Amino acid sequence: MEMKYKTDELTDEIRNLGLTTGAELVGFASAEKLEKGAPKGHKPSDFLLNARSVIVLACGRQLNEDRDYVYKWGPNFSLTYIKLKDGIGQRRKEARRSVEAVKNFLTKRGFKAITEMHGWSGVLSFKIAAYLAGLGVFGKGCFVVHPQLGPLNILSCILTDTSLKYDTPLEIDVCGDCVECIKACKYGAFKKVSKSYKWIPEKCRCYDLIMNPVNLKWTYGPCNSKCVNACPIGNHLNLNF
Ligand code: SF4
Ligand code: SF4
Repeated sequence: MEMKYKTDELTDEIRNLGLTTGAELVGFASAEKLEKGAPKGHKPSDFLLNARSVIVLACGRQLNEDRDYVYKWGPNFSLTYIKLKDGIGQRRKEARRSVEAVKNFLTKRGFKAITEMHGWSGVLSFKIAAYLAGLGVFGKGCFVVHPQLGPLNILSCILTDTSLKYDTPLEIDVCGDCVECIKACKYGAFKKVSKSYKWIPEKCRCYDLIMNPVNLKWTYGPCNSKCVNACPIGNHLNLNF
């Protein structure tokens, strides 16, 4: 099946499709590279046997939903978890169309395509995939930063069994002297090691679940990605919605 398609053309078609259906960035990495160093249970082959490529679809910092949530007392005295910018949810929904479009494109051509949405299952490292696919580099705060768009919102990684033309990881220092993300963390989740910083996941409070005392529903808190939101890169860009 695969021989019918030229790798370069197939890659270009996928990139164009992703970019015209909602993603702001589309990158390609070899599944083999992601496989190396990934712990058991988190390798592309744990997800799709014979995985050859990882397609990473991403948008810039404006779709980083965490920055648009706060805790507030609602009219019924419940502690609510609300969005400040309604447009974010809508834009995010629109951007996700690119994931289905690329997946359908591949399956219609007889390739296997498995979608890993947003990384919540923790099967694949989206950050490493995005780095390998040349979409950004690790900043001091250990999140992936695109040099113009800022901290990335990675929509999805799509694993497929076809070979594609792979991007090269960027080799740039996006941070310079900035330490805003480190300063923003109030939970001691960054430790200085020589000239860089190590992120200590056990101390990170971003994905702690807390219970709303009134409606007894679980929600995220208490940090809301303060480190990511503090990153100045991409902050100058205007929202398009
Ligand atoms: S998400 Fe919050 S707790 Fe975690 S490292 Fe960033 S600022 Fe610290
Ligand atoms: S906040 Fe500053 S130090 Fe942190 S990732 Fe962004 S540019 Fe780098």
